[in-house]
Amino acid sequence: MKILDYNIKKILDSRSNWTIELELYNEKNIGVKSSVPSGKSTGKNEVFNLDPDQAILKAKYIFSKIKNKDFKSQQEFDHFLISLDKTVNKSYLGGNTILAFSYCFAKLNAYFKHIELYDYFNNLVNLKNLKIKPKMPYLFVNVINGGLHAGNNLKFQEYLIIPKTNDILKAINLARILYLELGKELKKIKGNNAINIGDEGGYAPNFKNDFEPFEIISKILKKLNLDKEFYFGLDAAANSINLSNDKLEKFYLKLIKKINLIYLEDPFAEEDFEQFKKLKLKLKNVYICGDDLTTTNINSFKKADSENSINSVIIKPNQIGTISETIEAIQFAKQKNWWIIVSHRSGETNDDLIADLAYGVAANGFKLGAPARGERVAKYNRLLEIANQ
Ligand code: PEP
Ligand code: MG
Repeated sequence: MKILDYNIKKILDSRSNWTIELELYNEKNIGVKSSVPSGKSTGKNEVFNLDPDQAILKAKYIFSKIKNKDFKSQQEFDHFLISLDKTVNKSYLGGNTILAFSYCFAKLNAYFKHIELYDYFNNLVNLKNLKIKPKMPYLFVNVINGGLHAGNNLKFQEYLIIPKTNDILKAINLARILYLELGKELKKIKGNNAINIGDEGGYAPNFKNDFEPFEIISKILKKLNLDKEFYFGLDAAANSINLSNDKLEKFYLKLIKKINLIYLEDPFAEEDFEQFKKLKLKLKNVYICGDDLTTTNINSFKKADSENSINSVIIKPNQIGTISETIEAIQFAKQKNWWIIVSHRSGETNDDLIADLAYGVAANGFKLGAPARGERVAKYNRLLEIANQ
């Protein structure tokens, strides 16, 4: 497939920061659009994103190099971009610029092949010894926001509810029932301001302590007779928390006695592979997940594997900067039988590509914020669209 034209402009993300939206056109003048998100609690080893004005200049340069070239595959295209950049963290062309091109190439190539984007991702992820069929993920729904994503007193970043079904209509309905009831309850016990929301659409009032959010959610679920329908998860994002490892561990152990917690993301600081391992060995029934620890980077995945630090991993394409490297990371994780959680970022756009990614690679989970706010709902609604086909 050949790229014949492009267009790039600045658009707003969900936090009112500028980001980029790229359009690419192929030889049949078919065009696609992609925009890229950005994180706030970012891992140290994520790719380097350029300021959007600079990214626009770099896009012009990239286009001059790819125009009229015949790219046979996603890998060939992505590796060409990587070879143009030449840096370890994509700082010359910008992780954001490169990802926008990689996303557009995927959409355009799927269109060119007359297949759905999720089938395109499914074709990319399958190997001789890895046969995966597209499958709906469990939804990891962030209903209460803390840490860097909110202006409240919660140290931990994401209080996640996980409907136990991957029937997507049922899962979304369960999530929205809880989300709406939680809003009513918070308003009742904490006043009108309690339903102001954080970066990912979850409520963000002050709480008595870091356990209270789950206590309130559990109470509501019991009242609704829905307490058997959900698991719980926590993204501690501990890199941004000023607590000793001892105190963090005490908190997790106490939390597990209170609720059915099956998922714990970034329980310790981003380079503490050893501490992750100790917790993983202690908590046999909890998925210990790397995010800032592993940054969708296969080298960090290998380190986490050799140090036995995790059994679950976050997949965020914009941590690494291309679809091909994201797919390689997923293949590695699948071969290790880790739980794979595809994830949005706290600063999002309405691009819904990651919903196709989650379904196409049969991710175990999909972290997509609260079922509210346009940029979050775009991903929920894409899953519904897929389920309806
Ligand atoms: C996360 O830490 O999992 C997350 C989505 O937040 P951010 O995008 O700010 O890194
Ligand atoms: Mg995280």
